[in-house]
Amino acid sequence: MNAQKLSKRLEMVASFVPTGAVVADIGSDHAYLPCYLVHKGIASRAVAGEVVKGPYESAVKQVRTEGLTDKITVRMADGLAAVEEEDGITAVTIAGMGGPLIVSILEKHPQALKSVTRLILQPNIHAKVIREWAIGQGWAIQDEIILEEDGKVYEILVLQRGEMQLTEAQILLGPNLMTAKSPIFINKWSREIANWQRVQRAISEAEQTPENQEKHQQLDHLINIVQEAIA
Ligand code: SAM
Repeated sequence: MNAQKLSKRLEMVASFVPTGAVVADIGSDHAYLPCYLVHKGIASRAVAGEVVKGPYESAVKQVRTEGLTDKITVRMADGLAAVEEEDGITAVTIAGMGGPLIVSILEKHPQALKSVTRLILQPNIHAKVIREWAIGQGWAIQDEIILEEDGKVYEILVLQRGEMQLTEAQILLGPNLMTAKSPIFINKWSREIANWQRVQRAISEAEQTPENQEKHQQLDHLINIVQEAIA
């Protein structure tokens, strides 16, 4: 992977960035995504934010090597603290982290989202917490994608300003992904059911405490929801 040729995962994230967007890529690491977006003429300008020194330095180096220092500003900062009002950011990308970390980044500096009309989020795990956050914050799912690369399954959530209501199943599984029912989606959730059933068997063999019984019931509930969705 490099700034010209992204991984399939990041290429899919890039495909949801509107042409002409001013992008903040948070947790940018090597800054491949913002470099790609500017090279391709998708983003007019970008900010690459990184909280860790090593990745921040590789982002700075990459942007210099690509000759993009006039279009991409690299800032070492915690999450959206990398964004300044004058940047006029219109789209934010956050990829390659867990859902809870993505949500904590979005929650910590809400003022940085003032000019933002699109969020493109790629949680490695627990996409559910992003959907829960979105419902309470006036963001609605515009698109959702599930993909597999190198044996790992990734979800990408594209959010626009708006209201949405989701059922418990839609929060867990993703409303669009549930409708599309792709083979990757079916496989992911079939594996999850098998994991939950393994945990249930272990619980059944353990001491029957109220906590264990409750855990067993909670897993039953999840298994029912998912079985119904993938049937
Ligand atoms: N976004 C790239 C991608 O998807 O390939 C890099 C993903 S890498 C696994 C996660 C990056 O996020 C790391 O470089 C890490 O230092 C950075 N990171 C984690 N928490 C952060 C935060 N609060 N603010 C900015 N960057 C953060």
